[in-house]
Amino acid sequence: MGKEQAVRILQTLEEHGFEAYYVGGCVRDWLLGRPVHDIDICTNAHPGDVIRLFPDPVPTGLKHGTVSVKMNGLFFEVTTFRTEGKYEDYRRPSDVQFVAELRLDLERRDFTMNAMAMDRRGNLQDPFDGRKDLADRVVRAVGEPEQRFREDALRLLRGIRFAAQLDFAIEPGTLLAMKKTAPLLAHIAVERVREELNKTWDSQAPHKGCQLLHETKLFAYSPLLVQLVERASAQAWRLVHLESLTQKWAVLMYAAAFDEEAARQICAQLRMSKRDTEAIAVLVALLNRVQPDWDVSKAVEWGPLLLAKGEKTCRELASALRGCWWNRREEAVFRDLEATYNAMPVKSVKDLAVTGMDLQVAMQKKPGEWISRVLDTLLIQAALHGLPNTPEALLEAAKREVARDEH
Ligand code: ATP
Ligand code: MG
Repeated sequence: MGKEQAVRILQTLEEHGFEAYYVGGCVRDWLLGRPVHDIDICTNAHPGDVIRLFPDPVPTGLKHGTVSVKMNGLFFEVTTFRTEGKYEDYRRPSDVQFVAELRLDLERRDFTMNAMAMDRRGNLQDPFDGRKDLADRVVRAVGEPEQRFREDALRLLRGIRFAAQLDFAIEPGTLLAMKKTAPLLAHIAVERVREELNKTWDSQAPHKGCQLLHETKLFAYSPLLVQLVERASAQAWRLVHLESLTQKWAVLMYAAAFDEEAARQICAQLRMSKRDTEAIAVLVALLNRVQPDWDVSKAVEWGPLLLAKGEKTCRELASALRGCWWNRREEAVFRDLEATYNAMPVKSVKDLAVTGMDLQVAMQKKPGEWISRVLDTLLIQAALHGLPNTPEALLEAAKREVARDEH
């Protein structure tokens, strides 16, 4: 994606006497034949030179030597060769030094597969044998692994995320260093932890990610996350059959035998948005309710659930259940949901032939919470039990309901 534009950036830099390369993730993904989502460029040109050479530069990360360059409508990050200064608090440093040599820039990168550069003619610069590690399918730290994880503990999670995304093993020395430095993960911002976890669950080998998180004890600082990856590990392979991150999180939590409360705690700990938290917590609660035994498929009574939780939530639930029962290829759950939904003559209170105001007038009663309660009852009757959706029939039923309430 965007290679023609990127090559023009490399060309322009070279024409002005600078070196320029594709670098990092894009080179790795090209070599693997995987889709490339963004192309990063590195150069010995200083940011000031880059700004001078291209129209509309955006100084996105000047302090780190990064300038965003626009070429035919696409943006590319162009970063000056650099090494990193002192690391503080096990996080990436705030200051960097520009350097003249590509090798030094590659040396600061995390894993050998991410420490390769390629010029515009396709010549690979691979001082740490990243290509061999790709062929051997291993994630290997550049340089001395323990030191690299001490510099920046986010690399612990990145390593596991890459192993899951590519279905690679972690090289034994790198894995050992991960186990040793695992407690340092506690220094990393939860938002970054969450993003790496999301990528791990969305990968092609989430079970590998889950198993590695368990084995390396990366979450020792959080008893709940420890339990999650330990208990859900054996079921995590199912995530590849699920459609959304909401479903993936919910099925993991359900597989770990968490209730809604524990689900909410994990979401809070990872500072998920209110919306994501609600969606996940509701799904965990429903999974526990309709399917108390993990993996045992049984008929779901969709009618009341559709009326109480809405169609969207029920579709998420059906997808999640199908993931749980995947080995049985349980399509019936969706057919049942569909059939129940289509068969309901009314689907929400808004579809009823009477409004709250009509009830109030007909009953001569003060407004109050009785209105929504009666409307809900009418909805269930009309949607599932054959009560005709006409003003007469609904008001008649409403009167009976109110009379019963008043007794
Ligand atoms: P993705 O497919 O997720 O974008 P990526 O390898 O491109 O993977 P980025 O986070 O986009 O990852 O980073 C680009 C490059 O910067 C990496 O390939 C790696 O060389 C380097 N890099 C990123 N994060 C780190 C880190 N924490 N420590 C060392 N190098 C890093
Ligand atoms: Mg990238």
